[in-house]
Amino acid sequence: MRQSTYLAPTMRDVPADAEAISHQLMLRAGMMRQIAAGVYAYLPLAKRTITKIEAIIREELDAIGAQELTLPSLHPAELWQASGRWEAMGDELVRLKDRHNRDFALGPTHEEVITSLIKDGIASYKKLPLCVYQVQTKFRDERRPRFGLLRGREFIMKDAYSFHDSPESLDEAYWQMHGAYSRIFTRVGLEFRPVIADSGAMGGKDTHEFMALASVGEDTVVYSDGSDYAANLEMAKSALPEAPSVQAHGLLEKRATPEAKTVDEAAEALGFDADDIFKALVVVVDDVLSLFILRGNDELNEVKALHELGAKTLRMASEEEVVAAFGATPGSIGPVGVKDVPIYADYRIRSMERIACGANETGYHYVNVGPGRDYEVTAYKDFRTVREGDPSPDGKGTLRFAEGIEIGQIFKLGTRYSESLDAKYLDGQGKAQPFLMGCYGIGVSRTLAAVIEQHHDEAGIVWPKAVAPFDVHLLALNVKNEDQKTLAEQLYSDIRQAGIDVLYDDRPERAGVKFKDADLIGLPVRVAVGKRAGEGIIEVKVRKTGEQLELTASELVRWLN
Ligand code: ATP
Ligand code: MG
Ligand code: MG
Ligand code: MG
Repeated sequence: MRQSTYLAPTMRDVPADAEAISHQLMLRAGMMRQIAAGVYAYLPLAKRTITKIEAIIREELDAIGAQELTLPSLHPAELWQASGRWEAMGDELVRLKDRHNRDFALGPTHEEVITSLIKDGIASYKKLPLCVYQVQTKFRDERRPRFGLLRGREFIMKDAYSFHDSPESLDEAYWQMHGAYSRIFTRVGLEFRPVIADSGAMGGKDTHEFMALASVGEDTVVYSDGSDYAANLEMAKSALPEAPSVQAHGLLEKRATPEAKTVDEAAEALGFDADDIFKALVVVVDDVLSLFILRGNDELNEVKALHELGAKTLRMASEEEVVAAFGATPGSIGPVGVKDVPIYADYRIRSMERIACGANETGYHYVNVGPGRDYEVTAYKDFRTVREGDPSPDGKGTLRFAEGIEIGQIFKLGTRYSESLDAKYLDGQGKAQPFLMGCYGIGVSRTLAAVIEQHHDEAGIVWPKAVAPFDVHLLALNVKNEDQKTLAEQLYSDIRQAGIDVLYDDRPERAGVKFKDADLIGLPVRVAVGKRAGEGIIEVKVRKTGEQLELTASELVRWLN
């Protein structure tokens, strides 16, 4: 490609809201532009890398027998209603109506669609197992789209789904996919870890997330320095033995009195070290006014555990309610701006966040109650904390923390969707059985950004060869110089003929600008045709190592191969 006419508008000053390095570099290198919050245009350089990532994914998935198909992005509401996720997805689901006023959603994931398709397509166990996949644009109205491609509202995902007639068959597919994912992420050049993850209430059992290690990552990887143990934070917590690091919450049943004890004393009565207590929070859980005593700073995770206690709805208590129940001093509980928030299995975190935010503000805390007298403790829940330096749950080594970007996840769904969508096959005895299912996702556009997070320096991107937009950046340092121009044109054609992808900087720019842009775009090899073009000598630089050498033009293609 000739850079003079190539759509790669490099940028000097990136907008302040581009916080992540990958976001900044992609803007600067002319790889992407924002169209709306979390919605991006992938310009040709980015598109080339995406194509390469997709090709690696296709190779590895085809190799384990998965079949590519394409499912629609426009989903009728009925499918999502049947699975219960029309509600559960909350605001993250992008909804729209057609001209007949029928409800639709733009697909954030495709369990519903694929299950309904297989339901009608497969009647017998003889057709199983089956694994299908697609690479497609997904839509999620993320509460906080940020970090460029790392968290978009429209993004590219590879999603795969498998169907089985036995847990053994599902297990086999799951581990095959685990292997394929490891090969894919290795090939794209990422340092990553598969971590055991919390299956939450998705209905399934086993699940792994694949985490690319990077400081911008929003997830915490907890791993052992003495074994293969690696988990996400939630999972690491649940792997811990119960107690002594427990917390409790009490459902408030008795009226408090103004002269009641303090929260610290309440905590002590519950067997906690008063120093550990962070705060108490009054909320209404399923119409029951409840007092929560939270320890530590990790309120989001703690309040979110409410869901596991079977709660359906949660909201902050209003001042009136608190006063009525506790006879409390107004002001000890702050103003309430949170509407009733349904807690749903898959989306509990998002709902909880809104509540937990409030809990951090002054005035949201109830300070004068004591257990026993003011309320009964009717439910206990341990909120275990994991800290760096703790012993690994497998007894081998010490836990370490790292920030990770979730680039993929594999999941044993079981019959979560086949049951709700009534998708069944006939087994050997002619009996109808719900399919056992697995689902497997890779964030393709997120993977691209993760590669840049891991492969860059101060000057720009440093592409791993496998996913570089081009292999070679050929620069004609001065296009007005006949020797240079002629030699560069010749090399441009030779390199292409050798089947090597080359970006040819034939722009009428100064050499300094070209070198800068070449470093920024970061192709693995830079070939500069400059002052010694007359002698047929060119200068080659390896982007990653900085290694430079002079070659004769005739040696170049052999060297590149
Ligand atoms: P996250 O925890 O980051 O919100 P998720 O667990 O909701 O991700 P999945 O439903 O597991 O995501 O989707 C499969 C993959 O799609 C993820 O592992 C991730 O790589 C990618 N992905 C999810 N949400 C986004 C997004 N908003 N932008 C880009 N990629 C995404
Ligand atoms: Mg998400
Ligand atoms: Mg996740
Ligand atoms: Mg996930």
